[in-house]
Amino acid sequence: MPIVNCPECKKEISDQAVSCPHCGYRLKETSQGMSGCGWFLLIVGAIITAVIVISIGL
Ligand SMILES: [Zn+2]
Repeated sequence: MPIVNCPECKKEISDQAVSCPHCGYRLKETSQGMSGCGWFLLIVGAIITAVIVISIGL
């Protein structure tokens, strides 16, 4: 796997690491993408749940 240098502590870390294991520097901002995906899944889940409840109720 590719190795990159941490911009904070300059140590070698994995390119796929979300945060530096040495100093904890966050390399990738995934919180915004996760929250957007989480909201989307929440809405889809609510719709599916509503459809199931309605179909059972009928
Ligand atoms: Zn670091």
